Amino acid sequence: MKVSFLGLGAIGRPMAVHLAKLHELTVWNRTEERARAFGAKHQARVASTPRDAASGAEVVLTCLPTSQDVERLLEGDAGLEAGLERGALFIDCTSGDAATSRRIAARLAPKQIAFVDAPVSGGTNGAEAGALTVMVGGDRAAFDRAVPILQAFGKRIVLLGPLGSGDAMKAVNNTLLGVNILALAEGLTALVKAGVNPKLAVETLNASSGRSFVSEGLIPDRVLTGAWPVTFRLALLDKDVGICMGLLDELGLPGPLLHRAAELLHEARAALGEQADYLAPIRREEQRSGVEIRG
Ligand code: NDP
Repeated sequence: MKVSFLGLGAIGRPMAVHLAKLHELTVWNRTEERARAFGAKHQARVASTPRDAASGAEVVLTCLPTSQDVERLLEGDAGLEAGLERGALFIDCTSGDAATSRRIAARLAPKQIAFVDAPVSGGTNGAEAGALTVMVGGDRAAFDRAVPILQAFGKRIVLLGPLGSGDAMKAVNNTLLGVNILALAEGLTALVKAGVNPKLAVETLNASSGRSFVSEGLIPDRVLTGAWPVTFRLALLDKDVGICMGLLDELGLPGPLLHRAAELLHEARAALGEQADYLAPIRREEQRSGVEIRG
């Protein structure tokens, strides 16, 4: 199929690599040299503008930091909307917000362009392995059209409900991820300071009831090793948690624990900067406590 992908960032790029193997792919990226390098390596057409990317495409995918970035991409003579074909399918893999997703869908509906919010989970490793979870919001007919495309990089592709449901699912998921990161930073630091061997502490935790995705995967691979790669910016996690806080407000739910985690993550983002990785708060906790979780 003629597929276009816009946003070759940390997660978008490996997703597009899978699409390039199966489809006639066009790519567009704000920083053009990234798109050029991708096009040369993966035999994809490089579009000069978002409009050019959408022209002739049966399916268009975006993966940008926020829904607002996607909405802005639609605008203007060179914008995506000007190029989108009548009847095309637009899959937004941004971890976005439901209100903006619904606005985008309503804007495109007169041209019979189907829209689904389809944020992904599984990290850059999951994207490289083609094993992401895709959380979809939209109607059944659009979902059914999206599934064969999403299968290029997705292992579990779930329709969660109407437009915006994928965004809501992703925002809550990532808030729980943030809670886990903060909780492990405090808990493991305490254990190491109490004299427990860090590796043994993590192994024991992972054979016990306090374990999680973070303790089983991220801590052994990135913290115990001291590797600290940057794969997902803390700024983006903070954005996701902000979306979840908006959801709680909208629903009139207090969510005291989640709100406290949101405050702590927001504060960590301000202290650590826009390029810091999402596990950097663990390192900050180590430094504050004068211990290292290594082994
Ligand atoms: P990055 O910051 O690595 O990349 C962002 C991408 O969006 C780049 O291609 C960037 O272009 C482009 N971009 C940024 N701002 C704009 C803009 N205003 N207009 C057009 N293009 C823009 O982010 P990620 O790839 O990590 O994340 C993308 C989305 O996926 C986010 O919503 C994130 O929350 C989500 N996500 C990320 C995961 C991860 O592990 N990294 C996991 C799951 C979801 P340029 O090259 O010019 O900077």
